[in-house]
Amino acid sequence: MSNTESKLVGCAACGATNRVPASKHDARGKCGRCGVALRNGEPAVLTMENFAALAERSDVPLLVDFWAPWCGPCRQMAPAFSAAATQLEPTLRLAKLNTEVEQGLAQRYGIQSIPTLMILHKGREIARQSGAMPTTAIIAWAQKALAHRGVSSL
Ligand code: ZN
Repeated sequence: MSNTESKLVGCAACGATNRVPASKHDARGKCGRCGVALRNGEPAVLTMENFAALAERSDVPLLVDFWAPWCGPCRQMAPAFSAAATQLEPTLRLAKLNTEVEQGLAQRYGIQSIPTLMILHKGREIARQSGAMPTTAIIAWAQKALAHRGVSSL
């Protein structure tokens, strides 16, 4: 099958990479390995265990919120980020990375301040924005970044 007929979609629960027919990409399919829904309307929790599946192997760009529990602006932005997920998925997958837990990943991408939003596609950074944003600004920024990179049709 070509890329126009199916997409690789990572599973946040078990780290498997699922091949999903394009016609079913909008539906909330389940992981073929663990049976957990590939999307549940909430941002995924990004970890070392599922990073490769979600950020490197998946055909769906990943919008990551680098945050920490002690960061007030991060906690304030959390509801806005969750709300953005309902509008940006399934074009994008949204995920949260706790920089206290996953310090290695935060260091890999040189996160200097939080919150920082980053769009990753096939492991490569395609956009980055620091500072808390409301839902409308998150969506507008993400759509602009995708259009600029020509991946808005994914
Ligand atoms: Zn799974």
